[in-house]
Amino acid sequence: MKIWFLDNGSIVIDHAQLQWNIGGGTAVRIPSYGLLIEHDEGLFLFDTGFDLEHTNRVLPFELPEQTPEQTIPAQLELCGFRPADVTALVNSHLHFDHVGGNKHFAGTGIRNLVHAREIAQARNCEPFEHLGYSDRTWDHEGASLVPVSGDFELATGLTLYETPGHTVGHYSLLAEPASGAKPMLFAFDVVYNQEAYGKGIQPGFHIDPVAGVRSIRRIKALAEGHGADVYFSHDMDAWHTYRHAPDCYDV
Ligand SMILES: [Zn+2]
Repeated sequence: MKIWFLDNGSIVIDHAQLQWNIGGGTAVRIPSYGLLIEHDEGLFLFDTGFDLEHTNRVLPFELPEQTPEQTIPAQLELCGFRPADVTALVNSHLHFDHVGGNKHFAGTGIRNLVHAREIAQARNCEPFEHLGYSDRTWDHEGASLVPVSGDFELATGLTLYETPGHTVGHYSLLAEPASGAKPMLFAFDVVYNQEAYGKGIQPGFHIDPVAGVRSIRRIKALAEGHGADVYFSHDMDAWHTYRHAPDCYDV
């Protein structure tokens, strides 16, 4: 399979959001990205970054930076694809910085897999979650939403694992190449960066901190059990070490 990291730009958050209760008052710029996986069974897209216009309008304090080349259609094109080529779109969760490009799939009929609890929560969230779920453009008339639940294999060697805490229906992804290459585990927002992972510290933003620490343990157990490398959603230092589209991991 081929795995591309799709650069969607960056936003700024407080360090206490990056690591719960730690280093508040320090602003940190973090990356936002999607993953494109070309597999024998289809072309799968995981998360679509943030929408620049929405973020500037609703969360301007996050100082979003995104060039036209960092939008989902432009990033797909870098890899040689168009939105209509995608077999299925999966969102790890429905926060604004993971769904901003979903709107580009409107009217294509492409299945959009999201945890059933996540869909319900995003439509009727707690007051403190309003900004997180503020981009509702994924929930459009022509969307082919497919509510899913439980751990399941999306395609051979591509498995989604329930990892709630940050949100009620958060999924992480394990990619196990048939070639025998080292498996890649995408924790998404279970932990934002390598340091938080090492210390077992969840993001400042969460709906269930007990589930959140259990999900960190789950990621660690999966990484150990499968001999996988863990990739972090919002770690600028780690991001600079990853290959970015059009370069890919051909595994
Ligand atoms: Zn996020």
